[in-house]
Amino acid sequence: MIRLEHVYRIFRVGDQEVHALADVSLSIGPGEYVCVTGPSGSGKSTLLNILGLLDRPTSGTYTLDSEEVAGLPEDRRARIRREKIGFVFQFFHLIPRLNARQNIELPLMLAGVPPPERRRRSTRILQAIGLANRAAHRPDQLSGGQRQRVAIGRAAVMEPEIILADEPTGNLDTASSMEVMQHLEDMNQKGLTLIVVTHDEQIARRASRRIRMMDGNITRDEPGQGVTR
Ligand code: ADP
Ligand code: MG
Repeated sequence: MIRLEHVYRIFRVGDQEVHALADVSLSIGPGEYVCVTGPSGSGKSTLLNILGLLDRPTSGTYTLDSEEVAGLPEDRRARIRREKIGFVFQFFHLIPRLNARQNIELPLMLAGVPPPERRRRSTRILQAIGLANRAAHRPDQLSGGQRQRVAIGRAAVMEPEIILADEPTGNLDTASSMEVMQHLEDMNQKGLTLIVVTHDEQIARRASRRIRMMDGNITRDEPGQGVTR
């Protein structure tokens, strides 16, 4: 369960103050599928970064699973991030010299999971994302859609509660976009909370809840159509 109360995020640049988030209050329950839309600069990425504990509110509270996390020390936040949250970004952020399997195994390695268990889990994930036959390919040997599927695999491998995706299809053609969204939606079907920032109306429509942002505020929060398959 995610709860933001009166969250502000103010960036100071020179003598200027940017209110990237200005009094945002929001609750998201377990297993929801939420999309966030809004013009460029409206605070979508700032919101996602705060939800993902990559950034802290300037003021306000963030309660995650009944724990106030905004004010926790960085090591505690890093641990919660590792255990509960998976990220997918527009530009994939894969490690170029690691192959698909190694990219997926990276979070397991950082968490000290022994090699045989790492291999078991990456094999299962590679199958789930349809890339069992590309395990040894490096990112530059994969298409955009395949790279994003590896990034989804890496986000999924720690079995998080929440997947945060910031314009995950921003760099993909329509066919790859739909495939990537289906993999994210599969995870949501299994009970994960899915929060997707997107410019794509076709994708936004698929969520069961739609949030619109403008100038650091939530201006709309309404049910979406949901996925029909
Ligand atoms: P969106 O993702 O909706 O395009 P962002 O959340 O990235 O918007 O940015 C919201 C506002 O905060 C913008 O005006 C942006 O310029 C500003 N901003 C974002 N990150 C920083 C930063 N690190 N330093 C200064 N200003 C920032
Ligand atoms: Mg953004």
